[in-house]
Amino acid sequence: MASYDVIVIGSGPGGYVCAIRCAQLGLKTACVEGRETLGGTCLNVGCIPSKALLHASHQLHEAEHNFAKMGLKGKSPSVDWKQMLAYKDDVIGQNTKGIEFLFKKNKIDWLKGWGSIPEAGKVKVGDEVHEAKHIVIASGSEAASVPGAEVTIDEKTVVTSTGALELPKVPKSMIVIGGGVIGLEMGSVYSRLGSEVTVIEYLDQITPGVDMEVSRNFQKILKKQGINFITGAGVSKVETSGGKATVHYTLRKDDSEASLDADVVLVATGRKPFTDGLGLDALGVELTKRGQIATDKGWQTNVKGIYAIGDAITGPMLAHKAEDEGMAVAEEIAGKHGHVNYGVIPGVIYTHPEVAFVGQTEELLKDEGRAYKVGKFSFMGNGRAKAVFAADGFVKILADKDTDRILGAHIIGPGAGDLIHEVCVAMEFGASAQDLALTCHAHPTFSEAVREAALACGDGAIHA
Ligand code: FAD
Repeated sequence: MASYDVIVIGSGPGGYVCAIRCAQLGLKTACVEGRETLGGTCLNVGCIPSKALLHASHQLHEAEHNFAKMGLKGKSPSVDWKQMLAYKDDVIGQNTKGIEFLFKKNKIDWLKGWGSIPEAGKVKVGDEVHEAKHIVIASGSEAASVPGAEVTIDEKTVVTSTGALELPKVPKSMIVIGGGVIGLEMGSVYSRLGSEVTVIEYLDQITPGVDMEVSRNFQKILKKQGINFITGAGVSKVETSGGKATVHYTLRKDDSEASLDADVVLVATGRKPFTDGLGLDALGVELTKRGQIATDKGWQTNVKGIYAIGDAITGPMLAHKAEDEGMAVAEEIAGKHGHVNYGVIPGVIYTHPEVAFVGQTEELLKDEGRAYKVGKFSFMGNGRAKAVFAADGFVKILADKDTDRILGAHIIGPGAGDLIHEVCVAMEFGASAQDLALTCHAHPTFSEAVREAALACGDGAIHA
């Protein structure tokens, strides 16, 4: 039996970041991980592998659609799927080994195996019980099923995102159930690689929660790229036979029923907290109605000394949100003050163009009855975007009508996932749109579009 100040259960972005910060703050730390490799969903079957495939498939798209326009002639590359998967696996390996290196560097013990909490202050891994003054649960999430539908996931014909990251071949056709971030990212990958992709979404628009104007534009752009959409449709059943699947759905507008066949069905209807095997019931750890671990403002559960962070608790299921909570709870445990500003957590969809957003949407501001102004700038007016065939999209900044304080930003366009951060920093500093507008931005960059949107909140954009 070993004794620690902190044992973290789960080595995803919440858990590993928490463990590193605990060690940096002088706490004797261990991290339990049941997977073969560190890094959790994010590094193994989430953020990182999906971005590798998005990158590779985007390169193919560029070669097929834009190279000739720039005078780069010749046969487009063809897809060697095995090699693409090997590239993706190599990227995963580099990243997960990187966490192993950081654990060694920070003298964090990796307790290999699945952990449970027999009582407060104790963590059991295999046959061994370890003591810990503080336990942080960072057990993450797993794919959810389709609500109210008969669907059996076999990870071959009917897959979650995990199966979609390692299909044996590029399918001729794919149905994606759920028009959220993960479904659209993976749908984009396969569409660019040549699959006929159809997204079936229960709501009338894709990307629920995203600013409606962005969401509508995004759907149009993806449609232009060849992705089909069936919205306002509830899936009732998925049948499989002979390596093919049939998805049955009901159109909500008139209750009519229809079905569609595909080689592969990707179920991308969201994720739910994963807390199996931890022993939370016996410990009396409270859960929310949605099965998330309930915590107080210091990320402590109702059982003293047991904390929880990341996808296992409330809030957006995002790696950077989990990381921020990991650092903050470490600070709390070390007797300092942990801080996460939940009002300024960016969201990014890594398609092409990218979509990024932070803060309030117009819909939320209207619901609140808050007086606001909109500054918008199209990438059509951005020289750099035009030069690289990426002028689809816009930047939209929402600011308080009276004080000019930035309330939110919504970007669809090139590099949106990076551009959003200057608005995040501005919001953290309580900046006004004018503060952004008065900041010199290098030319020619995509970020000039952010400045122009900020200018449009005032006397007007220059290149509009
Ligand atoms: P996880 O990363 O899920 O890690 C939890 C770890 O705990 C797992 O490794 C699990 O094996 C381990 N574990 C669980 N229980 C135990 C136990 N009892 N004992 C030992 N180990 C245990 N987010 C983004 O911000 N950007 C993206 O681009 C993005 N892309 C994504 C793409 C896909 C396909 C998916 C599925 C997710 C994506 N996400 C993305 C979401 C992101 O992966 C999660 O929000 C993030 O991983 C949550 O981190 P976490 O530390 O809470 O949990």
